[in-house]
Amino acid sequence: MRGLTISAHGGLDRLELRDDLAVPTLVSDAQVRVRILAAALNHLDLFVVGGLPNVRIVPPWIVGSDAMGTITEMGAAVSGLDVGDRVLINPGISDRTCEYCLAGEQPLCPRFGVLGEHVPGTIAEEIVLPAANVRRVAPDADPAEGAAFTLSTLTAWRMLVSRARLRAGEHVLVWGIGGGVALACLQIAKLLGAYVTVTSSSDAKLERARALGADATINHRGVDVGKEMRARTGKRGVDVVVDSVGEATWAQSLGALGRRGRLVTCGGTTGPMVTTDVRRLFWNQWSILGSTMGNDTEFDEIVAHFNAGRLSAPIDSVYSLDDARAAFERMANGAQFGKLVVRIAS
Ligand SMILES: [Zn+2]
Repeated sequence: MRGLTISAHGGLDRLELRDDLAVPTLVSDAQVRVRILAAALNHLDLFVVGGLPNVRIVPPWIVGSDAMGTITEMGAAVSGLDVGDRVLINPGISDRTCEYCLAGEQPLCPRFGVLGEHVPGTIAEEIVLPAANVRRVAPDADPAEGAAFTLSTLTAWRMLVSRARLRAGEHVLVWGIGGGVALACLQIAKLLGAYVTVTSSSDAKLERARALGADATINHRGVDVGKEMRARTGKRGVDVVVDSVGEATWAQSLGALGRRGRLVTCGGTTGPMVTTDVRRLFWNQWSILGSTMGNDTEFDEIVAHFNAGRLSAPIDSVYSLDDARAAFERMANGAQFGKLVVRIAS
């Protein structure tokens, strides 16, 4: 079997396309085998290549978390799916037995793992995973669009809908438009009827974001976005800030946040340690919300929007499996606007 792997952590030169990988086999009757049609990259893949604390890989380790594929084999206990179904894959794997899983909150599972990070990933010809992690889509659904969709849209859905409870007419600020989660937040916020301001250091990306429905834009280079948002809103501030940048933007995000504001984060790409003035936190009755991945119900919700054509992830570019490393290089340079997809089969 062919697949993109690493056998040690380091730079992108560690990525190795192999054709001698063991074909995965079903080890439980609740699993399915999926022939991958297309996979897509996330920032997580760069972290996995570089090495994450407490995450141990078994070489040769298949990278990648997102994919669309076709079911080729099913365990005896699987129902509601058929061999030949085209499916979206939820990369979040949970034990389905703990108190959080039983309450329907799989991303809180103490044994939660992600395809490509804790279990072998999606940039390969085949994968075996729990049937609970796949959902059927139309037989002619586009594999690149399907691969690009799930992780970022699921993450953004939980952040805005379940955690921040964004409502129609509210004002949301989204940092760093161009990344998958930020673009999904823009789409979902517009779907909910919110007013959306996005930031980028690239005027070209801001222009593309306007074409996708952004109501207002800020080039954040050399600008205090907190002060700018207060000026633009007559000192009121915004209702929700989506900040997964961390140290570099936290103070500005709080500066932009109005009374009763919610700041929601799913990461800290510039560093994890941030400072919050607790007096402003309680006086303004802010909520600081963490979020990661999504639960089964949220997966159902985004798949319904995908199947109805209401949500889709913008695609930056599509690569062949032979050229997959070039996709990683484009992501490492932050050059992309939308998802980087690896086409694996037709
Ligand atoms: Zn669990």
